[in-house]
Amino acid sequence: MKHILPIVLFFSLQCIHAQVFEVETIKNFNGDEKRINLVILSEGYQASELEQFKTDAINFTNAMFNQSPFKEYANYFNVHIIKVPSNESGADHPGTATNVTEPASPIRNVDTYFNATYDSFGNHRLIYYEIDGFSANNTQAKIMNVLATNFPTYDQAMILVNSSEYGGSGGLFPMTYTGFWGPRVMIHELGHSLFNLKDEYYAGDILAAEAINMTQDDNPSTVKWKNWLGSNNVGIYQYTCVTGNCADWYKPHQNCIMESIEKPFCSVCKEGMVEKIHSLVSPIDSYTPISNSINNPTFPIDFQLDLIHPIPNTLESTWTLNTVEFATNVDAISLLDTDLNTGMNTLTVAVTDATVLLRVDNHESFHVSTVTWSIDNSSLGIDDITSETNDFSISLYPNPSNDVITIKVENTLNTDLKVDLISLEGKKIKTIIISNYETQNIDISYLSQGIYIANFYANNVLIAYKKVVKN
Ligand SMILES: [Zn+2]
Repeated sequence: MKHILPIVLFFSLQCIHAQVFEVETIKNFNGDEKRINLVILSEGYQASELEQFKTDAINFTNAMFNQSPFKEYANYFNVHIIKVPSNESGADHPGTATNVTEPASPIRNVDTYFNATYDSFGNHRLIYYEIDGFSANNTQAKIMNVLATNFPTYDQAMILVNSSEYGGSGGLFPMTYTGFWGPRVMIHELGHSLFNLKDEYYAGDILAAEAINMTQDDNPSTVKWKNWLGSNNVGIYQYTCVTGNCADWYKPHQNCIMESIEKPFCSVCKEGMVEKIHSLVSPIDSYTPISNSINNPTFPIDFQLDLIHPIPNTLESTWTLNTVEFATNVDAISLLDTDLNTGMNTLTVAVTDATVLLRVDNHESFHVSTVTWSIDNSSLGIDDITSETNDFSISLYPNPSNDVITIKVENTLNTDLKVDLISLEGKKIKTIIISNYETQNIDISYLSQGIYIANFYANNVLIAYKKVVKN
């Protein structure tokens, strides 16, 4: 995965002297290019303590990938550490918190690289990289500079603070301490930073907003997690009211790590996380043959996918040769000369994830990745094989609907999609063509109640289908 650095950072690179530190990879699955790259920075570790930092980072990584849905999607992530030495150990504790009787722990002021501090914004357990907004901006630029110099293609960076006293923070660069709950604090904070999840305790009006796991909609027929209601203890729970407008907001669960760090992620949070992982990484790691890589191929010709398998594997694949289904749920096929027409042939494989962590029928979007080979077959043999990949994000909502459904398509190759809406008896009701980034509405108000199927075709190949419920 390539992380696009903001322009401001390139500017600041010219101004700030860049320091090079030792970078180590502690979790690697087949290179960084097609993975979500997590980077852990050390803070408050002296040079002599950097091996301990590595041990702490490995402990965190193990805890993270023991936790669903990181566990199932472990192959989608790599983890790297940047060993940034500090002059002194630990983090500052100025004793200025207003939510405890200070000093809640000994007052100290230590010289550390990112100046991590307890008592930020008056909260004893809030470790931040400076105590207030203004100087934090300077430290944030320093963190970005370290990343740009040492691991510019990071997707998410986080900071491990060498302190045994409970604390942490979310935001752009989440932080945690090294004590017992440290890994779980960081997993919670990653829920915010990487997946845009909200706290499922009430964190104040300023942080209240519509999100994957937070809403003001308490209607069971329209709430965004309606697919999960009644399963795995998902419901529509009013936030426990402590302050402000908390009574206006609802959460999906009462035992989610976004509320209490000793709990797992709830089903609604997991679904949002899996969707984000799909939006960042295609499950197709590589494939063969790539364009023009075969000279004078002889039959049978092998076509092979290297997929990034979830654990257990939930990927499904459909192979289509010249618009006819050829094979399903295999990573490789072979073609004989008798399989091919004379002239141009098209072989497409479409890969989707059928994980039960997603209940996408009512959900906004789903992802399909394809490889298409064009095989030029003359009477003298194969002249040429070319190939291309495409990643589709398709949205269909609301579902169920009683009047209009909206369909949106995004894909990397700018391909038009044809959508056929058909009845369960196979009768075609409507065909529309949607171009890339286009949104179209389909009127279904005149249809009788029941289940319909939307078939999605790219270049006349069926790449996905979705159930549509008319009510
Ligand atoms: Zn949750």
